[in-house]
Amino acid sequence: MENNYKNVLKSPRIHETPKTVIALGGDGIGPTVVNATDNILKGMKIRGLEIKSMPCGENAIETQGIAFPEETKKAVDNCDAVLFGATHKSAVQVIAYLRWGLGNYANIRPIKYFKGMNTAFKRELVENIDYTFIREGTEGMYAATGREGKLTNLIGKGIIYKPDIEKWTEDAIYAIRIISPKATDRIGRVACEVCVRRKNEGIGKGLLEIVCKPNVLRSQDGMFLKRIKNIAKKEYPELQVETYIVDDFAARLIRFPDYHDTIVIPNMMGDILSDEAAQIVGGLGISGSGVYGSSIPYFEPTHGSAPDIAGQKIANPIATIISASMMLDYLGYEKESEGLIKAIENTLIGGLDVEKNWKTLPKDAVPPKYQKNGKFGTTDDVADKILEEYKELET
Ligand code: ATP
Repeated sequence: MENNYKNVLKSPRIHETPKTVIALGGDGIGPTVVNATDNILKGMKIRGLEIKSMPCGENAIETQGIAFPEETKKAVDNCDAVLFGATHKSAVQVIAYLRWGLGNYANIRPIKYFKGMNTAFKRELVENIDYTFIREGTEGMYAATGREGKLTNLIGKGIIYKPDIEKWTEDAIYAIRIISPKATDRIGRVACEVCVRRKNEGIGKGLLEIVCKPNVLRSQDGMFLKRIKNIAKKEYPELQVETYIVDDFAARLIRFPDYHDTIVIPNMMGDILSDEAAQIVGGLGISGSGVYGSSIPYFEPTHGSAPDIAGQKIANPIATIISASMMLDYLGYEKESEGLIKAIENTLIGGLDVEKNWKTLPKDAVPPKYQKNGKFGTTDDVADKILEEYKELET
């Protein structure tokens, strides 16, 4: 599977059934949005698709003393895809397995404006936004998570000298950032594949945007940029390539909101900029993602466990439903995947007549006045409406 980058976007078992999905709700709003999505998937009556829920996160720690129990791991190891909600304090333990343990390195985070969604931007600036981040998910600043340490420990290793400590003080902490040619090439190729696919589907314009910080991180990001540019030039000559320094690109996301197409970017930079981009189209509540690379990818909302709204049943389930749509596409249920996105569109478009439709719109889709007066739908109201719209499309 390692070098099979062309196929990571589609399941190797695409023509086989049953296909098993393990739903991991996790913590905070995770179980709320995953259960709502699970109900939709079951209501869609997709032939050959089986969904099973398993514990992970704080709940699993309480009941079994561990965030990622053996039986959950076993179920994940034997499934076709994972639908993941969010974990809070134990996030590293769960994600460590889903990402590094399974080898899922390509984090695809689409950014799309849905008509009717509330945003701080003028509608004409956002209405044509439909682009995607291809974020490297295993390296960069998160490659050696947990291996930070005191700077003084590096003295004598030929990296840090006593005068440096005087400058930074004895309490200074180091972290490690790693970029390898292997991970750069594979994310570069996945990005090119996605870019070609978007162009063929008439969504993208065949523009690959390589974003990093090569002016400062000359060796690391210099390599990231150069290798991906070469891959695109040699293997995907039909693509147009543009390169950007990350800070300039952060500004460009705001200045030219609907210009972008396929953005390939190192781990932490992609984590940050995709959250920024999500706000432009209406917030984390509508930002889904898939993390591909192994034969068991996982699909999750970009947001976390949102402890501030946990238990209130007001979380927007759409980010998870978009992730589920990506999962269906991966599993070969392309028609169902498209239908689900259309059903989301048909639900959110209700925002154009908010007084009539607020009961089935999520909190972040309605204007602040409605939010303040509690005039919006619950997680289940929104999910029910999306399923209803999906069924309507089928008739
Ligand atoms: P964690 O520590 O688990 O990452 P967090 O609070 O740091 O949680 P997020 O969960 O990403 O980070 O939430 C950031 C903000 O976005 C919070 O104010 C949260 O309420 C809001 N938010 C996140 N997801 C949703 C959602 N699905 N619907 C509505 N609001 C959301």
